[in-house]
Amino acid sequence: MTRIDRPSIDLHCHSTASDGTLTPAELVAAGARAGLDVMAITDHDTTGGWAAAEAARPPGLALVRGAELSCRWYGVEPAIPLHLLAYLFDPEDPALAADLIRLRSDREQRAEKIVGLLRADGVDISWPEVSGYAAGGSVGRPHIAQALIRAGLVRTTSEAFASRWLGARYFVPKADLDVFEAVRTVRAAGGVPVFAHPNATVRGRIVPDKLIVELAAAGLFGLEADHEDHTVAQRVHVRALAEELGLVVTGSSDFHGTHKTVRLGAFTTDPSAYEQIVAAASGVPVLG
Ligand code: AMP
Ligand code: ZN
Ligand code: FE
Ligand code: FE
Repeated sequence: MTRIDRPSIDLHCHSTASDGTLTPAELVAAGARAGLDVMAITDHDTTGGWAAAEAARPPGLALVRGAELSCRWYGVEPAIPLHLLAYLFDPEDPALAADLIRLRSDREQRAEKIVGLLRADGVDISWPEVSGYAAGGSVGRPHIAQALIRAGLVRTTSEAFASRWLGARYFVPKADLDVFEAVRTVRAAGGVPVFAHPNATVRGRIVPDKLIVELAAAGLFGLEADHEDHTVAQRVHVRALAEELGLVVTGSSDFHGTHKTVRLGAFTTDPSAYEQIVAAASGVPVLG
C-alpha cells in the first residue's frame, strides 16, 4: 500500500542537554520509535546536545537542530518571560554563541540561589546534588524539582512547580534575553525564530497580541499553536493571529521525558509550515 498519511513532524523536544530526561542519543531513537519523520532538538539555551543527536540519528529520521531561548519582553513592568524557539542557526555565530553562554551561566547562579533559599528553610538538598542532575547541561528548575522529589517533599515535577515551592515562594528570575534582540540575533545567525506556547496562561502571564504584531515586523517567523499548555480556544486564537500576520503555525510536543507526561508526536507541525521554516534558514542544514 502506498503511504498516504502525512509525515509526522515534532519541532520541540528536550534532552539531558537541558531539562529532558533522555540523552540526545536516546531522544532521537525514541523519536524514530514513536514514528516521527522529523524531530527538532530544542534544549533550553544550549546547542550542547546537537553532536550526540547527530551521531545517533537513526536513518529515516530528519534532525532539525535548534534551541529554546529564554527571553523577556521588557515593554511592561514587571517584564514578562517567554520562550523563543530558534531553528537551524549557525552555532558559531559570535553574538548568539555569547548569548547562550551568558544564559547558561546565569541559570547556574540562579539555581544555586534557589537551592540556598531552600536550604535556609531547612530543606535537605544541595547544589552539588542539583548540579549533578543537570550533568553539565543547562540547569533548570526541573533539576531542583528532582532533588525535592528525592528529599520526599513533593511527588512530581508538577507539584514542585506549585506556588509554595519553585513556582513562587522559592522563585528566582533568570537573566533572559530581550525578545526583540533575540529575534534579530537568531535571524542574523541564519536561524528561524518561532514563539513557543505564546498563549500558555497556565504558565503565568502572557504577552498581548500587539507585541506579537511588533515581533512579526522585527523578524519573528512563526507561532507555536498546538501545544499541551494551550486550550483549544488558545490554539484557535494563535492560528488566527498567525494567519493575520503571515506567520507560520507549528505544533509540537515539548517533550521532556519523564519530567512531563506528554508523548513524542502528541502535537505535530504541518509539512508546509516545516518546509517554509527550512527554506527560510541558512545557518545549518537539516540532517537526513
Ligand atoms: P526554568 O527554565 O528553570 O525556569 O524551568 C522551566 C522549565 O520547567 C520549562 O522547561 C518547563 O517546561 C518546565 N515546567 C514548567 N512548569 C512545569 C510544571 N508545572 N511541571 C513540569 N515542568 C514544568
Ligand atoms: Zn524545559
Ligand atoms: Fe518553553
Ligand atoms: Fe520547551
